[in-house]
Amino acid sequence: MTFKRWAAGAALLLSAGTLANCSQIFGESESAGAGGSGEGITTAMLVGADGDSANWISHGRTYSEQRFSPLDSINRDTVGQLGLAWSADMDTGRGQEATPLVMDGKLYLTTAWSKVKAFDAATGAKLWEYDPKVPGETAVKACCDVVNRGLAAYGDKLFLGTLDGRLIALDRDTGAVAWTTQTVPTDKSYTITGAPRVIDGKVIIGNGGAEFGVRGFVAAYSADDGKQLWKFYTVPEGDEGDDAPAYLKKAAETWNMDVLAANDAIGGGGTVWDSMAYDPDLDLLYIGVGNGSPWNRAYRSPGKDGKGQGDNLYLSSIVAIRPKTGEYVWHYQTTPGETWDFTATQHIMLADMTIDGKPRKVLMQAPKNGFFYVIDRETGKFISAKPYVGLNWATGVDPKTGRPIENPETRVDQTGKPAMVLPGALGGHNWHPMAYSPKENLVYIPAFEAGMMYAPEANWKPDRARGFNVGFSLAGELPADGGIRKQAAGTLRGMLVAWDPVAQKARWTVEHPGPWNGGLLATGGGLVFQGTAGSEFNAYDASNGKKLWSFAAQTGVVAPPVTYTVDGEQYVAVLAGWGGAYALSVDGDLINRKAPVRNVSRLLVFKIGGTAKLPAPPALAELPLDPPPSKASAEVIALGQVKYGRYCAVCHAPGAVGSTVLPDLRRAGALESAQAWNAVVEGGILKDSGMASFKGSLSKDEIEAIRAYVIKRANDDKALEAGKRVARR
Ligand code: CA
Repeated sequence: MTFKRWAAGAALLLSAGTLANCSQIFGESESAGAGGSGEGITTAMLVGADGDSANWISHGRTYSEQRFSPLDSINRDTVGQLGLAWSADMDTGRGQEATPLVMDGKLYLTTAWSKVKAFDAATGAKLWEYDPKVPGETAVKACCDVVNRGLAAYGDKLFLGTLDGRLIALDRDTGAVAWTTQTVPTDKSYTITGAPRVIDGKVIIGNGGAEFGVRGFVAAYSADDGKQLWKFYTVPEGDEGDDAPAYLKKAAETWNMDVLAANDAIGGGGTVWDSMAYDPDLDLLYIGVGNGSPWNRAYRSPGKDGKGQGDNLYLSSIVAIRPKTGEYVWHYQTTPGETWDFTATQHIMLADMTIDGKPRKVLMQAPKNGFFYVIDRETGKFISAKPYVGLNWATGVDPKTGRPIENPETRVDQTGKPAMVLPGALGGHNWHPMAYSPKENLVYIPAFEAGMMYAPEANWKPDRARGFNVGFSLAGELPADGGIRKQAAGTLRGMLVAWDPVAQKARWTVEHPGPWNGGLLATGGGLVFQGTAGSEFNAYDASNGKKLWSFAAQTGVVAPPVTYTVDGEQYVAVLAGWGGAYALSVDGDLINRKAPVRNVSRLLVFKIGGTAKLPAPPALAELPLDPPPSKASAEVIALGQVKYGRYCAVCHAPGAVGSTVLPDLRRAGALESAQAWNAVVEGGILKDSGMASFKGSLSKDEIEAIRAYVIKRANDDKALEAGKRVARR
């Protein structure tokens, strides 16, 4: 198809009125498939993706990001015969969060470390693979594992954001690099884990790093050559000049601009690290904006009294912008003056429904703060919000103002005192995609409850180079007492919530053993598919939550499934592999006592009558806990605890309890020797595996104090494992 022909087709579709019309028009050419050789993905195809049930051509399947497929040959009656068609092992052992794309019988995915792989979607034969060779030490810039959530397709290319901030275009047939653009400053802790979207030949990508002092933005690049077309900052810079756009001048009025301008290590945050959606009729791109940097508003935007002040636009907001120009249109801020890492980067989903007797074009989101929001997507006006999980930071949302009614005790940037807050920094829902069934008018939410103690850190100073820069002490730990640790774990909940967005209440809920379960897929077969932290991949009845089918996945599944057809046969595919923020921070001991959840990174593909088998799961090594004796002084151990909390906990778990994904430091061989320990932490000898040098951020003495602290923790837990109680220092 020539450029002129697709442009004309796109113009026809864009002027056709409603999304439904677009689908009908596109539906007629469904059998043409998603871009045979030489044709490629067009704007018309992306706009009409709903009518193309054979393929899955953009991240949320359609621009509305509903993750609903009309396919129905796998349904309530046939799902019992669903079996493994093929599987493919990944060559990484970290979190797997990607949504595969499927076009013309070929499946494309990203895996950890921003690698890309292409398969025959029916047989699993590998077609090509691409490794952008992200430097290992980039891992220390990432808050939440070295994950990647997927690709975008346009023309004959695929687009990928890499952990180190490159936007790369690949030839879809061969995996050859067409162009590369560095999208972020490399001297700050920016990372990309999200999937790009393409609108009318513009590749849109944001980034992460709001735990590390960056200033958030989203930008558009030409699909042809990677040239930057526009850049949209989500927070002001500090010294807004007269030529700053009006929306940033307006934002500047809601910040302490002196603080923001004075310290380059306080970037403000507001990163656009995951969700986007697009309404072709309104020509609006919706972006989800993240938390403040640092989290503690008393340090980010203090008033004269030193307490946090100001709404700090556009943190924790949904912002509508013009995809052609990057022009601001409207915003809705879910958590004004956020201080708890309450991002609004969670899945943004568009749908049309009748509310109070009137047809409404709505935007829906279940952000971290625990409220499910229904917003008018033309105007950004608040329609309704209700809690989809337990929460204590607010008692509701004022329908007149759309602002939360806060609980002053949890306003830790005002009180300066520690508080237990629900949801915690992981949210009531994180990045895991939801799904929507228009048949049931239900939104399926992979929700969970995990409260967090927010303890404001006294005399906190940002570190521009390294470490978790949030303004709260993360040195708190659970005592070496199995009973208390089990009790704490018992407060964790994970559930699949089927949410009625009109009534604003759950119609049904499935309880899972714990948090961090997989993203969702809803289908025309009346099914909802979800992987779990308990190493299952399940199908539920979309109308009542009854479990109809289950597969033992051998690993925690966090990624969302997709479905497609090849030669008319329906497949369901999901990338399995435990990882991400919660997996790195959870107490590995407790997980292991229930059932070992570990990382086996593997693509699983199912069809009716599939008979493939997985290889036997690898045996779990039982490593003894055998640390050197704890001889350091209480002062040294206390210093090590503080430094561990700031520089180590985010990857190696708070309290050094050891997750099942990254090395358990209590069992590290280097614990035996100050010299070996220093060679890793200061010398950076393991940087290629992801453990960067902390030289410049930690002194030799502090590095040794961290070793002393981990030795102490290991001895505590060794005594615990022997069934003894030990007195705490
Ligand atoms: Ca965050």
